[in-house]
Amino acid sequence: MALLVQKYGGTSVASIPHLENVARRILASREAGHQVVVVVSAMGHETDRLDDLAQQIGVNPATHREVDVLLSTGEQVTTALLAMVLMKHGCPARSYTGGQIRILTDSAYTKARILEIECDNLRADLTLGTVAVVAGFQGVDADRNITTLGRGGSDTTAVALAAALGADECQIYTDVNGVYTTDPRVVDSARCLERLTFEEMLELASLGSRVLHTRAVEFASKYRVPIRVLSSFNDSPGTLITNEDDSGMEQPIISGIAFTQDEAKLTVLGVKDIPGIASRILGPISDANIEVDMIVQNVAADNSTDFTFTVRRTDYQQALAVLQDVAAQIGARQVSGDNRIAKLSLVGVGMRSHAGVASKMFKTMADESINIQMISTSEIKISVVIDEKYLELAVRALHAAFDLAAASA
Ligand code: ADP
Ligand code: ASP
Ligand code: MG
Repeated sequence: MALLVQKYGGTSVASIPHLENVARRILASREAGHQVVVVVSAMGHETDRLDDLAQQIGVNPATHREVDVLLSTGEQVTTALLAMVLMKHGCPARSYTGGQIRILTDSAYTKARILEIECDNLRADLTLGTVAVVAGFQGVDADRNITTLGRGGSDTTAVALAAALGADECQIYTDVNGVYTTDPRVVDSARCLERLTFEEMLELASLGSRVLHTRAVEFASKYRVPIRVLSSFNDSPGTLITNEDDSGMEQPIISGIAFTQDEAKLTVLGVKDIPGIASRILGPISDANIEVDMIVQNVAADNSTDFTFTVRRTDYQQALAVLQDVAAQIGARQVSGDNRIAKLSLVGVGMRSHAGVASKMFKTMADESINIQMISTSEIKISVVIDEKYLELAVRALHAAFDLAAASA
């Protein structure tokens, strides 16, 4: 008998027939002798709909508290409906909001972080054989304000509950069969991976594979909670994400390709190459609460430098405005920007021990005449920034070049 936390994403709970399907899965797990705690997302695209309503009024930091009250309602609807479906099938069930469980978070509305979880309700339900159906993506701060965890945050609720309860596995049910070599909606030949390490999954998630929320993988890795990503629409085994040591298998060089169009690039041209320049450019950006991702600095023969970096696309206009001021202060020649870029990353722990991945990547891009604008590397990943119109071509070409469709790439 295992204790399982099962999380069902938006597509899996999109309608009453979908909830009937989810209930069948929960009942089957119970019949197999397992204890189950359930976490649900909002139905279908409900969070997008709610967000759009807020955007019609206009969202700014002063309204973020209200946005969280609004967005959290989506998950609450699903908890009640699923609990009712379970009860209709004779299964005792109870719905809970994040506040009722007491998922305590900080007060960073729209991107709160979980600080602590009280498990008394959940443990009492487990003892009674009742299925607790918990709203994902939400919590409360110390003053009982409702908070949300950032888009995709229901995964994090599930893994955090699994960690707090000491569950044997956290099962993330979604609309694809598991974690693939790349987004299966972009590359038809993408292959579903049997296993992945936390480290690789953390890179893939943080570099844009939205199949798992990055914070969820951080939690799982920290508390050693095995995650299984699987489909709620069939019985395929899915992808198991654990520690590298547990896998006992030879690691492929490249596990997957992640990409994101959520970034924009800014360049300050003709800056004097003197100490303190990076800080004078990036200080005001950070003061404006804008996160910087990749940074490149190039010194020309005349000792002037061009300083380029990327930010989230939603921060682009604000970053551009900040830079105009900075450029005037430091006597830079010009500020330019591009918000039609994409970042594409190859990820694999095997890169540590294999040379030549970067050169093969760059040759593949060159053969497709795709210009690389920026490059960054770490031990287990290589990221490049390219024009967003070549993104799909680049992902397909790299997927083929690294033979990722084959069973042991
Ligand atoms: P849910 O609503 O169940 O949380 P999401 O839409 O958040 O589902 O995540 C699942 C989606 O992630 C898939 O439909 C797929 O398009 C996308 N995705 C991106 N990269 C990958 C990948 N490497 N493997 C699997 N799915 C991926
Ligand atoms: N419903 C939220 C979203 O769409 C949280 C989630 O589904 O994980 O982002
Ligand atoms: Mg998701």
